[in-house]
Amino acid sequence: MAKTRPGKRDLDSYTIKGTNKVVRVGDCVLMRPADVGKPPYVARVEKIEADSRNNVKVRVRWYYRPEESMGGRRQFHGAKELFLSDHHDVQSAHTIEGKCIVHSFKNYTKLENVGADDYFCRFEYKAATGAFTPDRVAVYCKCEMPYNPDDLMVQCEGCKDWFHPSCMGMTIEEAKKLDHFLCSDCAAEDDPKKGGNSFSASPLADGKLKSAAIDGLRTKERLGNANSKLQAYKAKAKQLKFKLSHLKA
Ligand SMILES: [Zn+2]
Ligand SMILES: [Zn+2]
Repeated sequence: MAKTRPGKRDLDSYTIKGTNKVVRVGDCVLMRPADVGKPPYVARVEKIEADSRNNVKVRVRWYYRPEESMGGRRQFHGAKELFLSDHHDVQSAHTIEGKCIVHSFKNYTKLENVGADDYFCRFEYKAATGAFTPDRVAVYCKCEMPYNPDDLMVQCEGCKDWFHPSCMGMTIEEAKKLDHFLCSDCAAEDDPKKGGNSFSASPLADGKLKSAAIDGLRTKERLGNANSKLQAYKAKAKQLKFKLSHLKA
């Protein structure tokens, strides 16, 4: 247990007022924003402390939403994306409204259903400089953007890259109906006489789709398939990197 200042004592847990929810060190919490109507702040609890008059304070490390970062929200940022900042604070425990879960990016993409209290984090963020860690991630599609888990993408059977339907001149509905997909580059190279034989026998178009975590469309089987393909592609795509610092406005 960490050192305690005179008159203060460390607590193992704090029960959120008016609930039976117990917050412990390491948990992620939602904290009441200063402005009513704004989304709650998200933080990780690092220490819980009571003073001699039993006022409970929490030392927290803030998560930033993309719109609170220097570069602002970008197209590849997911709706539930947070950045783990290096910004610490001490707050009254009364400002804690609820608990939430901040998943790793990988675990988030595996969720069958994304609840209101599910978030994900793939970057750490330095509040003073606006720098991200890691500062590069794999990119996909003709638009060469990092993966936004909210967006549906289709995988090309030729080059194995993933594409946004809109970047390929398709609607999302059209993409969902596809049995096979070749991107424009691969289609141009494809010999039509051999084309029918070059496709794999696995028939499910759904298996080629990677879709939004929050749209409720995914099944586990489908997602597992899409993810293993994504991982395989990521391994090959290491030279295609996206430098996040270039994004700063
Ligand atoms: Zn694209
Ligand atoms: Zn292709």
